[in-house]
Amino acid sequence: MVASRVILVVFAVAIFHFMLQLITILNRCHRFPGFVYQKARFSSDHKSIEIAMRPRKGSKAICSRCHQPGPGYDQLVERRFEFIPFWGFLVFLLYSMRRVDCRCCQAVVVEEVPWADGKRTLSKAYMLFLARWARRLSWKETAEAFRTSWDKVFDAVEHVVTWGLEHRVLGQIDAIGVDEIQYAKGHKYLTLVYQIDLGITRLLWVGKERTIESFQGFFTAMGKDVISKIVFVCSDMWEPYLKLIRENCSEALHILDRFHIVANMNKALDNVRAEETSRMQREGRAPVLRKSRWLLLRRSENLGADQHFRLRDLLRYNLKTVRAYLLKEAFQQLWEYNSPAWAGKFLDEWCRQTMRSRIEPMKKIARSLRNHRELILNYFRAQKLLSSGVVEGLNNKAKVTMRKSYGFRTYRVLELALYHSLGKLPEPDATHDFF
Ligand SMILES: [Zn+2]
Repeated sequence: MVASRVILVVFAVAIFHFMLQLITILNRCHRFPGFVYQKARFSSDHKSIEIAMRPRKGSKAICSRCHQPGPGYDQLVERRFEFIPFWGFLVFLLYSMRRVDCRCCQAVVVEEVPWADGKRTLSKAYMLFLARWARRLSWKETAEAFRTSWDKVFDAVEHVVTWGLEHRVLGQIDAIGVDEIQYAKGHKYLTLVYQIDLGITRLLWVGKERTIESFQGFFTAMGKDVISKIVFVCSDMWEPYLKLIRENCSEALHILDRFHIVANMNKALDNVRAEETSRMQREGRAPVLRKSRWLLLRRSENLGADQHFRLRDLLRYNLKTVRAYLLKEAFQQLWEYNSPAWAGKFLDEWCRQTMRSRIEPMKKIARSLRNHRELILNYFRAQKLLSSGVVEGLNNKAKVTMRKSYGFRTYRVLELALYHSLGKLPEPDATHDFF
C-alpha cells in the first residue's frame, strides 16, 4: 500500500518536472515577446499535452486589423491551437484571445497573436511543419503520418503558399514557357506559366482553363514592368496563347516549343495507325500493326534489340502508318541544324514531301508548321538556348504533383499543390527549424 503510494508520488513529481522542462524548451524554440507559457499538463484522457499561455503583464494586445497596439476591451473564451505533436502526444497551446478597443479602426477587434493566423486552429509552426512534409509525401499520407486530417494539411499548405506568393520576389524574368495540363476528364485544362531562365526554373502562375481571359490573368498578375522585360517566350501552337503573347510581349522572341511539335506529330502518327489498324481488320488482312504503338512512337535509338527486329519487319510493309512513321523520323533531323536558314530549307522540303503523302493527319501537321514557320525558326535564332526539355521536365513534375494531392481534384487543391511544389516560394519566418 505504502509502496504504491510512494511510486505514485514519484511519478507525479517526475511529470511535474517534465512539464517544467517542456516550458523551458518551448521558451527556447517558440518564444514570443509579450506572451508567456504558464503551465503544461496532460489532458484528462492523457492523449494530449495542453500548454496554457497568457499575455505578459503590462503588454498590450495588438489589433489584428491595423496591427497597432490598443487598449484592452475584454477576453474571449479559451481557444486551442494545435502545435507540432511529439512522442505520440498531440500538443495544444491554450489561450484566451483579448479584444482591442481600437481607436484607429474605431471598432472592437480581436487581437493578433504571433503563433497563429486568423481563424485557423493550427499554429503557424505546425502549418509550416505539415506543409514541408506535404511536399515530400502525398497530402493523404501526410495526414496519416501525423494523425491529422486531410483538411488540416490543406489548411497548412494554403497558409504557406499564400504567404509565399505574397512575399516572393519576381525580379528580372528573361524567359517564360507556357503550357497546359489536363486535370480532369472532359477538356478540363490548367494553363501553367514557368520561368525557364538558365539560373532559375519555377512555376510562376497557374490559371483555370486555357482561354484568352484566363491567360490574360497571367500578364495582369505579373504587371507590365516584369512582362516588358521578358526576352523569350516558349509555347505551343494554341491560338489564344499565340495571340496574347503577340499583344503583351511584342518585343520578346516567341519560340514554338520543340516538345509540343514532337508531341503533335506523335499524335498524328497514332491516329494514322489506329485508323489503318481498324481498316485492315475490317478487310480481314493480317494484323501486322498489332501492338506496334510504342514501337512507332518511341525514338528508334531507344528501342531494345528485339524491338528493333520487329520494327524492321514492320517497315517492309507498304502501309500509310509506315510512311507516316518515316516522315516523323525524318523530321527529327530539323533539330540538328544550327543555322536558321538551313533549318528553314529543311522544314520547307519536309512540308513539301508531306503534303504529297496523301496522309491527312500528317498533312495537317505540315500545314500548321508552314503557318508557324517563323516561330519555329526562332528556336534556331535563339541559338537553341532554351531547351524545351526544361518545359517538358517541369510539366512532368506538375503531373506527379497532381497525382500526389489526389482525392480532391478541385481547382483550388491543384493550384495550391502546384505552387507548393514547383513555385520555389519563400517560406514564412519561423522561430525555430522544427525539422
Ligand atoms: Zn485597429
